[in-house]
Amino acid sequence: MHMAGMLSFPLVEQDYPEKRAPGERAGDFAEISRAFATEKAEEQSSRCSQCGVPYCANHCPLHNHIPDWLRLTAEGRLREAYELSNATSTMPEICGRICPQDRLCEGNCVIEFSGHGAVTIGSIEKFITDTAWEQGWVEPIMPAADRGQSIGIIGAGPAGLTVADLMRSRGYEVHVYDRHDRMGGLLTYGIPGFKLEKDVVMRRVDRLRDGGVVFHEKFEVGRDASLAELRQRHDAVVVCTGVYKPRAIRAPGVGASGVVESLDYLTASNRKGFGDAVADYDEGRLNAAGKHVVVVGGGDTAMDCVRTAVRQGAASVRCLYRRDRANMPGSQREVKNAEEEGVEFVWLSAPDAFHDAGGTVAGVNVVRMRLGEPDASGRRAPEPEPGSEFRMEADLVVKALGFDPEELPKLFDAPELAVTRWGTVRVDHKTMMTSLDGVFAAGDIVRGASLVVWAVRDGRDVAERMHEYLKAKARTGQAEKVAA
Ligand code: FAD
Ligand code: SF4
Ligand code: SF4
Repeated sequence: MHMAGMLSFPLVEQDYPEKRAPGERAGDFAEISRAFATEKAEEQSSRCSQCGVPYCANHCPLHNHIPDWLRLTAEGRLREAYELSNATSTMPEICGRICPQDRLCEGNCVIEFSGHGAVTIGSIEKFITDTAWEQGWVEPIMPAADRGQSIGIIGAGPAGLTVADLMRSRGYEVHVYDRHDRMGGLLTYGIPGFKLEKDVVMRRVDRLRDGGVVFHEKFEVGRDASLAELRQRHDAVVVCTGVYKPRAIRAPGVGASGVVESLDYLTASNRKGFGDAVADYDEGRLNAAGKHVVVVGGGDTAMDCVRTAVRQGAASVRCLYRRDRANMPGSQREVKNAEEEGVEFVWLSAPDAFHDAGGTVAGVNVVRMRLGEPDASGRRAPEPEPGSEFRMEADLVVKALGFDPEELPKLFDAPELAVTRWGTVRVDHKTMMTSLDGVFAAGDIVRGASLVVWAVRDGRDVAERMHEYLKAKARTGQAEKVAA
């Protein structure tokens, strides 16, 4: 237990877990931060001033009981801290690792505003549940009595896994369908190991499997079954398919070999991490070793691509982004990490052509941008500066401009599934149900590209509403039987 008690922030300085040196971490795909030692976690937790109205929790999409588990940690009551932390989250150790805390809980901590530096909430959250796994406190799912109803989940990312966890615990038969061979969605194949090590994801998947969740791998809805067939098979269905249609760059030469999609690139790298044979990587197409790499984009995906290229042994890595540092969507923390690892950011720049040398990319024509008048969303729209073009050497270009939803009504052979004009699935926010009875939706496919913590939140909300729906359905079924 920490000796200073709580409210120790004027005495105890803010401290994050130590980062490994850039030279060392660029040589592997392991996480870059070391773990807190128990004393450190207790000490850092004790800085919390136990606010009556905790802004940190209000700005956490899960409304985690942050001050309570910080106090329990400071008092050395880690097992209770774990139970409380797990009461509101299905994967706290994952959110603790990859939430953009500076924009959520920590960015709203009152101690941050008083100039002392926020409580290091994410690192403590990670520490609590990592310790629970080590100590064997994470229990298998204990399903409630069998309810005789089953649900189908399409997509095994954080949204789908959350629904699976909470519905299996309530006693439903749970089937998860995913087109990939491994579960986890972007946690497994998008986000690189240096942010989230894969065994952290796999132990969550294994716990669900051990708890009786049935996973249908390499099962693509739209190819292996239609949505209508799944609705026949199950009492309720939830769509958690994420967003996967990459935004295109329209510029001459973009079709040259060596200009690749970010998710192909990251997936190949993650697969290598699992020990899979990946021809496109082994033959060089999706491997940055020895190459001059240019990544186009300024979001989380672009940050992950540049840092992956460094680890693959690229000769140089540059990131082109059409706005400036202050106006990029990606996390500042990640930009800093990337810069430390040797990435060069070329702000206010965009490609306007790719040099194609016999079918293979050899360079990028870059044009300088400036920020013009604010657009409809209030952001200042970038516009090219005439005559500012210059050439940049490149033999691998990664397009990382973000993702839009695929055309689900068509893919699922379900034209009556209502979508918004952006292609995201429309849900009634009270029931979390789509335009189809008994079909729910959660995560990025509803929100557009978002965050893991929001996918978990949606999954939690869907599980609650689906449970209500299925209880009502069971009652109606009983009543019909009696009437007959
Ligand atoms: P997903 O995780 O996308 O999972 C959807 C699943 O559905 C996939 O497994 C897919 O195979 C499956 N699927 C799709 N269509 C079908 C079909 N027809 N049939 C069967 N299965 C199907 N968020 C953060 O909070 N922090 C980060 O640091 C962060 N980094 C990111 C880095 C990258 C490179 C990317 C791309 C995203 C990142 N995000 C990050 C965003 C985050 O990963 C997503 O918001 C989150 O994973 C969405 O969860 P989801 O469950 O809705 O969908
Ligand atoms: Fe902060 Fe994310 Fe954890 Fe919430 S889930 S406490 S926002 S790190
Ligand atoms: Fe503690 Fe900061 Fe949350 Fe207040 S806002 S309860 S000090 S973590």
